[in-house]
Amino acid sequence: MYDAIIVGAGLSGLYALHRLRGLGLRVKVFEAAEGVGGTWHWNRYPGARCDVESVDYSYSFSSELEQEWDWTEKYAGQPEILAYLEHVADRFDLRRDIRLGTRVVAARFDGGWHVTTGTGERVSARYLVMATGCLSVPKPVEADGLASFRGEWHHTGRWPHEGVDFTGRRVGVVGTGSSGIQSIPVIAEQAGHLMVFQRTPNFSLPAYNGPLAPETRRAVKAAYGRRRSLARQTHSGIPAEPAVHSALEVSHEERLARYQAGWERGSLVGILGAYTDLLIDRAANDTAAEFVRSKIRELVEDPADAELLSPRDHPFGTKRPCLDSGYFETFNRDDVTLVDVREDPIAEITAKGLRTTGGSEYELDTLVFATGFDAMTGALTAVDIRGADGRSLRETWEAGPRTYLGLGAAGFPNLFTVTGPGSPSVLSNMVVSIEQHVDWIADCLAFLEGRTIEATAAAQEAWMAHVREVGAATLYPAADSWYMGANVPGKPRVFMPYAGGVALYRQLCDEVAAKGYEGFAITR
Ligand code: FAD
Ligand code: NAP
Repeated sequence: MYDAIIVGAGLSGLYALHRLRGLGLRVKVFEAAEGVGGTWHWNRYPGARCDVESVDYSYSFSSELEQEWDWTEKYAGQPEILAYLEHVADRFDLRRDIRLGTRVVAARFDGGWHVTTGTGERVSARYLVMATGCLSVPKPVEADGLASFRGEWHHTGRWPHEGVDFTGRRVGVVGTGSSGIQSIPVIAEQAGHLMVFQRTPNFSLPAYNGPLAPETRRAVKAAYGRRRSLARQTHSGIPAEPAVHSALEVSHEERLARYQAGWERGSLVGILGAYTDLLIDRAANDTAAEFVRSKIRELVEDPADAELLSPRDHPFGTKRPCLDSGYFETFNRDDVTLVDVREDPIAEITAKGLRTTGGSEYELDTLVFATGFDAMTGALTAVDIRGADGRSLRETWEAGPRTYLGLGAAGFPNLFTVTGPGSPSVLSNMVVSIEQHVDWIADCLAFLEGRTIEATAAAQEAWMAHVREVGAATLYPAADSWYMGANVPGKPRVFMPYAGGVALYRQLCDEVAAKGYEGFAITR
């Protein structure tokens, strides 16, 4: 019997193991993959890199680690981020408590948690920490006929370790979210011809990625503490001074200058963080959205392609904006074709490629599905988690996830979720949110000393009402996004993350802890 079982060995699971072990607990981690790293183990597609600057998209819990690790680029690529996480696993001697290649398929509570793995093995622990990731379950391919396809196909979220050779190939990429937008320019460099099948255009900003100069690294390291604490005080977890003005209270010229500076900063918050009301007021948002569309028109030579690539269906920022390296410019290449599958949807995959409902056929050697994930709930409901009364989490969340603080759920004692639905999670720099959650959980376990904890139904109701109210005051619900569950057919439409921002959220979590874990029932 362990004190705690952690499921997942990504950024969350690794840090959770380190923290819980530091409390003297007996801990075991189960990880389905054959390596640590989570997202950065699975997403090896060409062009994969972070969209929060590496110096910020990294752990803050160890100043030694901060000082000894050198990021080579502003936005590190997947191999470097994976190398970092492997270094963390070694440096903190984590591997001896991690079992790789082991999927947890079920977990049942009766005083403690009894976990079943894919091989039928049963292991028990007092506490169960689900560090299973918000973006770890790729969506299955939705078009029929995939089995008949004679070419090679891959999902970006399950990319083969040996890589994929596109040389001279006719390649089709389905999907233009962050994964598509990062991979398309790189695939285009190699492919014989690239066809991009776009259903919805996305807002994307240039990353202005490049090597990190040694003096920049030194300056960051010299002031790391301040940088981290600034990040924690922001809405997004990305260090930046907060906006003070509404976009509508300044002149058109001033706004343009501000947006241009934001564009040149190469950051998710360069434009989105410029004014206080961009995510709450449609007219304010339109000013930023139109600025980005004007950039797309400048970058894309063909006006028809430029219009097709210009998002008009959702406000700017209500889907996670993308950071790209030459995305829009890629459509100026003669060997790249943009296909509108909103107008003429994909009907089926055929032996030779793709057919649309309008009857157009596209012959392809390789198909890349950059079609995203069953986000936030997918990895949790994939496990048959059964609480105190035998009811499953899947059933309990049929109409949408219900949590208290995104950390616990009524009916599921001693179960913790890291960056669960109802927390800022995917709206933030995830490392900031992960560390905050893991620290909160570790402090809670230290406080419990083996006692049982369960969110009360009343506290959960009140929290969900707050999450709904805060979400409804924003523009987020106006988008058919994966934040809303809209990308998975049949998934309930609920805005899942908490939009109150990481600073306010941390304060609320700390208050709950300071009041003896108010809203949780604690029993012997
Ligand atoms: P994950 O990294 O997803 O790890 C979860 C692990 O749990 C996985 O390894 C999975 O195999 C394992 N697992 C799941 N279910 C089970 C089970 N039943 N049994 C055993 N193991 C299981 N966020 C940012 O803030 N900035 C970024 O720049 C950024 N870039 C991203 C790029 C990509 C391509 C993707 C897909 C996501 C990105 N994200 C980014 C979000 C990213 O998921 C988080 O930043 C972070 O890596 C999540 O860490 P995690 O440990 O919580 O989850
Ligand atoms: P995504 O944002 O969900 O994008 C999926 C894309 O596939 C969308 O364009 C979607 O179109 C399209 N699509 C899905 N199903 C389709 C279908 N049946 N037919 C045609 N098109 C279909 O997924 P993602 O790009 O993998 O990104 C998910 C999240 O992971 C990001 O938002 C981000 O948080 C994170 N991420 C970050 C980075 C980074 O820059 N560091 C990189 C990758 C991922 P619709 O919009 O019409 O549904």
